[in-house]
Amino acid sequence: MNANPRDILQHVFGYDAFRGPQEAIVNAVVEGRDALVLMPTGGGKSLCYQVPALVRPGTAIVISPLIALMQDQVASLVQSGVRAAYLSSTLDFQQTQAIESQLLDGRLDLLYVAPERLVTARMLDQLSRVKIALFAIDEAHCVSHWGHDFRSDYLGLSVLREQFPHVPRIALTATADPRTRADIAQRLGLEDAETFISSFDRPNIFYRIVPKQKSLDQLEAFIRREHPGDAGIVYCLSRNKVDKTAVSLNERGIRALPYHAGLSGAVREENQTRFLREEGVIMVATIAFGMGINKPNVRFVAHLDLPKSIEAYYQETGRAGRDGLAANAWMAYGLADVIKLKSMLDQSDAADTFKREEKRKVDTMLALCETTSCRRQLLLAHFGEHMAEPCGHCDNCVEPVPGWEATEPARLALSAVYRTGSRYGVEYLVEVLRGEKTERIAGNGHEALAVFGRGTDLTDKEWRSVFRQLLARGFLQPDSEGYGALRLDDSCRPLLRGEETLMLRREQARTVTPRKTGGKPALDIPHEDRILWEALRAKRRQLAQEQGVPPYVIFHDSTLMAILSARPRSLKEMGHVAGIGDSKLDRYGEAFLDVVNEYA
Ligand code: ADP
Ligand code: ZN
Repeated sequence: MNANPRDILQHVFGYDAFRGPQEAIVNAVVEGRDALVLMPTGGGKSLCYQVPALVRPGTAIVISPLIALMQDQVASLVQSGVRAAYLSSTLDFQQTQAIESQLLDGRLDLLYVAPERLVTARMLDQLSRVKIALFAIDEAHCVSHWGHDFRSDYLGLSVLREQFPHVPRIALTATADPRTRADIAQRLGLEDAETFISSFDRPNIFYRIVPKQKSLDQLEAFIRREHPGDAGIVYCLSRNKVDKTAVSLNERGIRALPYHAGLSGAVREENQTRFLREEGVIMVATIAFGMGINKPNVRFVAHLDLPKSIEAYYQETGRAGRDGLAANAWMAYGLADVIKLKSMLDQSDAADTFKREEKRKVDTMLALCETTSCRRQLLLAHFGEHMAEPCGHCDNCVEPVPGWEATEPARLALSAVYRTGSRYGVEYLVEVLRGEKTERIAGNGHEALAVFGRGTDLTDKEWRSVFRQLLARGFLQPDSEGYGALRLDDSCRPLLRGEETLMLRREQARTVTPRKTGGKPALDIPHEDRILWEALRAKRRQLAQEQGVPPYVIFHDSTLMAILSARPRSLKEMGHVAGIGDSKLDRYGEAFLDVVNEYA
């Protein structure tokens, strides 16, 4: 094949232009050089190896850690008229043989392979007998112990450089931190590769963290107001909470499925397939769900529990809006979350260095929750990116949070902890501060304390917010027994001695939606276009069902949106729509043209 990259981009994938660094990456690989690509989710990593795969002679071998991911990619490529296949343990002997002979006959443009399979003697032998266009190592952070998805099979991939020194290799990941990056380069022998680092900003995602009250009511309100009928993911920390949340959402008339490691493989598989294939399914899940889910139109990611690190938070929220259309990252966060997370750290019997590292991660996560400035600036700064101006597209930017001078109340709270002997939880401490005459307080003789009744000018809720922020900043620590008792941390001394002042977030009822989206659904289809939009979706659903593939494999939402605004009147015009290449035009052009003619 001697097509050039732009022709392939236009005719096969239906896009007019490369995005960001794609073209430079494609050229490097086409010319036979190695590349290390760091790009956020939704940045467009796939084309970086799929285009060179079609430009260079031979078969491109793509190493991918998840079967679902391979299936999806292959289904999409086949729709675009590309000769793609995958080898995985789900195939039977005959299917495997058929694909192997396609490989050996040079009839494949791309072959997706799981890492454990690639390194078998059989596979390596077959590869040595065919022309290989390139090796693409997807989700390359799996090779690193530092990452969260370490896969020992990935370590075996160093064999590629040894056995195929002249075949270009491209490794891709959405994990940004420098340590993981260095690890990838070293373990895969990519020290000399050209490195391409994109901005990790996800401008289409709106970040919002709300104070937790009744989190299920808050979640329901959020979904009803902003995401009726949309697909989304709700993350919870425990399996138990996943189950309860899914049941509760269904009882409230919102279709949701559970996903966690305690469910049988069959149930997980089925729920995942429904999430991918049906529209508007909400997945309630632990972190077991998500890696390799490249459903492009996940419109929101909600957290009912606090992730353990900013990396995890960014990875999880990054699953929203891969298609570049508007999406929401929403989290409810409260006092109990801080206590839970901190005492979990305390109780773990991990080595001290590990614990310190974990603690640092938790602290930066808490800082993100408590910040009064732009969330995106803080997030990006964490990945070493400097953003000069506040983003204007997060809750704190859209509705600035006032700070308040809280030095005095903070000192009162700290001395309440100290005077009561570091043996009580927040509820009790607030009662003491507010001077409540309970039997328990009387029994403990705590009415006699100087702090008793000194805090009547703050409400119960305000006090809880003070305690939460003191915990988040590390001035207070939960006891290690996990009963929620608080003790002072050494770091609070300057504050107690009056050498430091403290500004805290002024909590307000901010269940309000950002003005930007104004509480409207994320995909804001104009009223007069609704009928056509639904008709286009129905056609897509029908075609997808006939072939047993997810709807987005036929067309992404962004392509349907483009049809909606272009209103093509001929096949030629249809062919100009972004996301419609030659093969898809052949297959579906007529069908969607009919829909436009009928409903527009
Ligand atoms: P990643 O693997 O980095 O998460 P994908 O490769 O899935 O991202 O691409 C994300 C989305 O962007 C997909 O919908 C894809 O079709 C679209 N896309 C990628 N490159 C381009 C481009 N050059 N022009 C238009 N859309 C693109
Ligand atoms: Zn902002």
